[in-house]
Amino acid sequence: MSALMNTYGTRSITLVKGEGPYVWDDQNRRYFDAISGIAVCGLGYSHPAVTKAISAQAETLIHCSNLYLIEPQKKLGQILTEIAGMDEVFFSNSGAEANEAALKIARKFGQDRGISQPEVITAQHSFHGRTMATLSATGNDKVKQGFYPLLDGFTHVAYNDIDAIKSAMNENTVAVMVEPVQGEGGVNIPDEDYLIKLRELCDQNNCLLILDEIQSGNGRTGTYFAFEHQGIRPDVLTTAKGLGNGVPIGACLARGKAAKVLQPGNHGSTFGGNPLATSAGLAVIEAVNTPNMLNRVGELGDRILEGFTNQLQNCKHVHDIRGKGLMIGIELTHECSDLVNQARNKGWLINVTGGKVVRLLPPFIMTNEQADELVDDVSKLILAFTHS
Ligand code: PLP
Repeated sequence: MSALMNTYGTRSITLVKGEGPYVWDDQNRRYFDAISGIAVCGLGYSHPAVTKAISAQAETLIHCSNLYLIEPQKKLGQILTEIAGMDEVFFSNSGAEANEAALKIARKFGQDRGISQPEVITAQHSFHGRTMATLSATGNDKVKQGFYPLLDGFTHVAYNDIDAIKSAMNENTVAVMVEPVQGEGGVNIPDEDYLIKLRELCDQNNCLLILDEIQSGNGRTGTYFAFEHQGIRPDVLTTAKGLGNGVPIGACLARGKAAKVLQPGNHGSTFGGNPLATSAGLAVIEAVNTPNMLNRVGELGDRILEGFTNQLQNCKHVHDIRGKGLMIGIELTHECSDLVNQARNKGWLINVTGGKVVRLLPPFIMTNEQADELVDDVSKLILAFTHS
């Protein structure tokens, strides 16, 4: 019996410790976390620089309300906006909250221009969070069941289909919101010019391009933000997960006209951007935003992708193998959720999303040997599973 709400189903192990890419359960069994706490601990567990930063901050000032200026918040805001090429940032505690801020910007952007029923176009198979607005934005009916009525003003169209967005646009459209790589939807990677065309379309129609980089940001795809691969910039950008390497933090960044939408009294958060979280963010960026680390993510991603392609190329139950940096998906032809338990029994934490896609989000600090071991063991599991 547990006093915890059953929102996560049965959780069969209790994790008590983490170091580098490994976590240990309460029976002292070690696991390699090949999903990094779902795209959070890119730097691995107990990263010394993050631990040092939050320990020092905890001794100085953990919390301070947003009625006052917060030094690490100001510094992180400066650095993050510079990296992203954005003008301003609002800090939150999670990804969903960062997206809430983005959606409020989109709606007010429209209302300030006389659009009383603003609409946001999002993609099928997208995931934007579990709050009511972000659930409404999400393009997955399964997670919405039981929560109707959702918010009006969202249109869902096929991902990676510019014509679908063109057809959905009308005089009420205020923004298009997509993930540069869909994570929960199955590691779906769009065409190389998808974001470029989206950028053009949004410019032509005076609507905002919102990119949700909650999962793909903070180095995960081999550039600090995934949109950099396509050389464009969004009007609004959200991120979270990897930004704190485990300390809860989210950010909604905005540029140009979008940066000026929210004014005093329009939005806020008690904890968002607090000294502890933003000091973690500063340590993370210092470690992640180096050419060495970002190149390493790309290299590891290529190595793992090539490894899986070699080992699984003759398996007729493998439909597709795809990846961008260390966001990797292996799509099988049928349901394979059982693989999660089988992998865990062998000491690997992996994830299956959408029932058929094995998703790997391993940490950036893994060695080549660990990457090869991951490929070997997960390939063997897939081959055994698909032939059983
Ligand atoms: N957006 C994307 C792309 C995500 O992957 C997630 C979480 O998986 C979210 C939003 C929601 O983030 P959070 O769980 O921090 O609210």
